[in-house]
Amino acid sequence: MQKITQNVYAETKFGGCNPGFVVTSGGVVMSDTPQIPTDALKWREAIAKFGPVRYIVNNEPHGDHITGNYFFKGAVISHEGTRQAILKYSSAEAGERYKTTSPADYTLMKRFKYRLPTITVTDEMTIYLGNHTIRIMHLPGHTPYQLAVFVPEEKVLFTADNVLYKFPVYLQHAEPFAWIESLKKMAKLDVEFIIPGHGEVCTAAYLPEMITRVQEWIDAVNVLIKKGMTLAEVEKNFTFRDRYAPQPGREATASIVVKANITRLYEVLKNKQK
Ligand SMILES: [Zn+2]
Repeated sequence: MQKITQNVYAETKFGGCNPGFVVTSGGVVMSDTPQIPTDALKWREAIAKFGPVRYIVNNEPHGDHITGNYFFKGAVISHEGTRQAILKYSSAEAGERYKTTSPADYTLMKRFKYRLPTITVTDEMTIYLGNHTIRIMHLPGHTPYQLAVFVPEEKVLFTADNVLYKFPVYLQHAEPFAWIESLKKMAKLDVEFIIPGHGEVCTAAYLPEMITRVQEWIDAVNVLIKKGMTLAEVEKNFTFRDRYAPQPGREATASIVVKANITRLYEVLKNKQK
């Protein structure tokens, strides 16, 4: 666990997303939850020293941000679209991935049920808790339902996967143009530290690079579409590689991600031409 500011902590070493939390005099507000059950228990123990968890914000619907809700107390907040997405997930299947790889995690998932958000946002909301202001903003991009948590007193922004620090960009469910606009909005906030969805904690100085990285993906697909290529041809002729290589051992997933990114960008850019 890393102490980021006086009252903000984050973890970047878990498998899955980077969870974080803010300690207020009125209790703890968490940003996302650890995906792996044994990590979730470690995280719960670490947080307990700082007070009761009052709220958990799920910043996006992807499983690595919301599965761990099950292990925590506190009211869960998300975008309405994230709640709708979780409603479609199968609780029975969630633990299967650990069956052969991790008996400890498999056991912890025996009675698992996705814990749904009970408070939903479609635009923006603010929680005043203790001496802190927790601004929860809808900033679509990596998915249409991305939230970001801004804590002005700490100058900290939790972005989930809208910011990926030196980590491959994932666009399968993205609204790429909205993503760039959301990153520009983030750059206007009085933020010092950013807790990204994946990769090390960074500062607001990284935002221009993140904008470039999303734009590079758009441009790489667009240049082939402009040559009149079909989706299959774009896939075949695609030579762009994300400037950040996949993590060791994740090479197989990386080619699936590239294909998913191309498919989504092709769909978005073709629709834009119409
Ligand atoms: Zn994600």
